[in-house]
Amino acid sequence: MDSNLQDGFGRTIDYLRMSVTDRCDFRCVYCMAEDMTFLPRQQVLGLEELYRLAALFVRNGVKKIRLTGGEPLVRKGILTYFQAMKRHLDTGALKELTLTTNGSQLAKFAGDLAACGIKRINVSLDTLNPAKFAEITRWGRLPQVLEGINAAKTAGLRVKINAVALKGFNEDELFPLVEWCGREGHDLTFIEVMPMGEMGDIQRLDQYWDLKDLRARLATRFTLTDLTERTGGPARYVRLNETGQKVGFITPLTHNFCESCNRVRLTCTGELYMCLGQEDRADLRAPLRASPDDAVVIKAIRDAISHKPKGHDFDYTRQSVKGQMTRHMSHTGG
Ligand code: SAM
Repeated sequence: MDSNLQDGFGRTIDYLRMSVTDRCDFRCVYCMAEDMTFLPRQQVLGLEELYRLAALFVRNGVKKIRLTGGEPLVRKGILTYFQAMKRHLDTGALKELTLTTNGSQLAKFAGDLAACGIKRINVSLDTLNPAKFAEITRWGRLPQVLEGINAAKTAGLRVKINAVALKGFNEDELFPLVEWCGREGHDLTFIEVMPMGEMGDIQRLDQYWDLKDLRARLATRFTLTDLTERTGGPARYVRLNETGQKVGFITPLTHNFCESCNRVRLTCTGELYMCLGQEDRADLRAPLRASPDDAVVIKAIRDAISHKPKGHDFDYTRQSVKGQMTRHMSHTGG
């Protein structure tokens, strides 16, 4: 039976976020500990398994797939996945294949990604200051990322910059970031920081910068027009009248988008999370590895989605969530 995926509340699930690796070449302080222990290789889905699952989701009505991680472009052989998925873009069954990346490998991959039918990408970039960039990513180098972003632009990829809003860290870069994105032609989205990762000495809650405040500051210099477009996720957009730029706000902790939620998330170990703020999940790796029969896997996907919770109740006090947030969340604009 090839038809759409519907949950128990009548919502159609047509957006899949897939984490393709838990590994990353950066160690952003709000995301990972510096001495991360990564998963044993056999626990992580192989590229063929990732492809098989993705193709099954597409066969069952998923129209948009976003790869994330970890850093998707450090996954060995990931290009073969994109190349294999291209046929689903070509048939029109899949409307969009995209990724969220830290940009470090874009100089190498941008052209190939464009050739695989990728039209736009999200690049995470919190600051344009090289020293601050090194501080927040621990291992990243800003020039490499800027070179990657340029390569993406040259390859014809549309770039959206995702910046985590961090009080006392990039507050003073609000306007420089907006202006840089305006000049370069990139959309820009701010993400509210979530209580994850390992900030070490930096107090997490001290870093929380309410996006309402950020928006109010933006309004001191620009006239903001709310855009009605919805993504089915936690993003809202405004247009800056003076420049025509689009700026987004992602508030993963609010739950006012649950009614229109159209997405599920797959971890790189094959666990399907039904909701950003809930622990409900289903293991797809076991059925995937147990049987070459796709019907078994499709049944597992349908069963899981039929149990998608109505809404999320993300608890900001859940400070004990440690280590790599994306191992099970791979969330937001990410
Ligand atoms: N490596 C890729 C990248 O850098 O975009 C994809 C994975 S990364 C986890 C996806 C997004 O999640 C990035 O934009 C990152 O800044 C964001 N992120 C990570 N930890 C976060 C947190 N604690 N709160 C809010 N956003 C976070």
